[in-house]
Amino acid sequence: RCARLPTVKTLDDFDFTFQPSVKRDQLESLHTLQFLERKENVVFLGPPGVGKTHLAISLAVIAAERGRRVYYATLADLITWLEDAQQAGHLTRRLRTLVSPSLMVVDEIGYLPISRTGAQLFFQLMSRRYEHASTVLTSNKSFEEWGEVFGDEVMAAALIDRLVHHCHIVNIRGNSYRMREHRALASRL
Ligand code: ADP
Ligand code: MG
Repeated sequence: RCARLPTVKTLDDFDFTFQPSVKRDQLESLHTLQFLERKENVVFLGPPGVGKTHLAISLAVIAAERGRRVYYATLADLITWLEDAQQAGHLTRRLRTLVSPSLMVVDEIGYLPISRTGAQLFFQLMSRRYEHASTVLTSNKSFEEWGEVFGDEVMAAALIDRLVHHCHIVNIRGNSYRMREHRALASRL
């Protein structure tokens, strides 16, 4: 059921003392999965290494454990998958497949440039999931920068408008967990 999760992460593995801008209360409340029942979205924003993917996956793991259908993809992979389907003439079927999971994680918005058709396909998918099922998204770019990410300010604004209508935004400010050992080492030198 844990469809395509790149790795398993849980909230128990998350060190809140390392990342004080992440509020334990808010994350525990999200992990009750009430947002799924309400078809609300969750957006994790912040620089690399602060735990966005970790927390998005831990939500997907809980949902899968509770018997919900989950789907994980990076934005780049998701768009490739949609473009392939469009070229092969079965976009409608693939969109239907991607609308059905009660939780979809779209990871890494902002790392790779997106083609115009790619952006339009993603917009179609998100419009269909809107008020139908929850999506958890992660991005290293602030919403103001999404126009640049998607190559279209108007479309990005329409996407963000739907996303944030029923949404929990977790803004993470802090140091990269990946760099913590280097920092610990550097402070001893
Ligand atoms: P991001 O997606 O924000 O770039 P990740 O979630 O991939 O960052 O985190 C990078 C690595 O550090 C992962 O292995 C993740 O499990 C771990 N990690 C990040 N933040 C924490 C934390 N606060 N406590 C424990 N592990 C963490
Ligand atoms: Mg990540």
